Amino acid sequence: MNFEVFSIGTSGMMPLPGRFLTSALVRRNGELFLFDCGEGTQVSLRMLNLKWKHIDSIFISHMHADHITGLPGLLMLSSQVERDKPLYIYGPERLAQYIESSRKILDMYINYEIRVIPVESGTIYENDEFTINCFPLKHTKLCYGYSIVEKSRPGIFSVERAKELEIPMGPLWGKLQKGEDITLSDGRVIHPSDVLGERRSGRKFSYVTDTMYFPEIADYVYGSDILFCEAMFTSDLASDAIEKKHMTASQAATVARDANVSTLCLQHYSPRYSDKELKLLFKEASEIFPNTILTRDRMSFDIPLKE
Ligand SMILES: [Zn+2]
Ligand SMILES: [Zn+2]
Repeated sequence: MNFEVFSIGTSGMMPLPGRFLTSALVRRNGELFLFDCGEGTQVSLRMLNLKWKHIDSIFISHMHADHITGLPGLLMLSSQVERDKPLYIYGPERLAQYIESSRKILDMYINYEIRVIPVESGTIYENDEFTINCFPLKHTKLCYGYSIVEKSRPGIFSVERAKELEIPMGPLWGKLQKGEDITLSDGRVIHPSDVLGERRSGRKFSYVTDTMYFPEIADYVYGSDILFCEAMFTSDLASDAIEKKHMTASQAATVARDANVSTLCLQHYSPRYSDKELKLLFKEASEIFPNTILTRDRMSFDIPLKE
């Protein structure tokens, strides 16, 4: 089952030629999850051939223009496509008001249901396969980070072991694979753990922007396969970062290291850095956390299933 992450944009504050505003998208098993929606988001989605109508949920970090002004345009696209499922939009309390007033003032024709769900820290969605968690960040206004966390899968079924235990091939094998105990015709009870290997861990993606550094971010994103994390400034501007409640690239790398993530993808770059100067951010982050990516717009990453 696929689990892909796309960088939609990487700029902070304002869109630049070749650098749209910060947004990311996860495609998992045909479902699309969008994180933030600044100006230009729909252009990047089109360039990546990601179909708007397949977006199931949108998660908004906070109510700053660089993260939400793409939303009315994206919602207006709805009149162009057939869509039968509701669209879920998660975010801070005032998001509902923003969407409602945009709809009214812009006379938006929307032919499907939009459900706006105010979030609080904790699990905001759960099904059999994954959870979506939300956690508080520290910015100039209420701001949240998000993680998609897959549940672990049963271990590998040992055919050899099943044969040793003389379990007849067929539906009984299936029951064990689903985690159910079975009783054989001779009365023996077989538990799934008798034939299955260790459970296989799920995959995790985390999205962190905008925030100042604080050590607990590492707890929230712990063990992520991919962490998209803001890296607004180089360390010489650390005091600006504190004042504006943003992070330096070194701080993003510190989070990645402390959280034992597999890959750190930097994002939300200050427009003060030209495309060439972005390597300064990469350099300082990769000294602390080597598996750092200087994320550029429309890069994509695959997280393979864990065996
Ligand atoms: Zn921002
Ligand atoms: Zn902000």
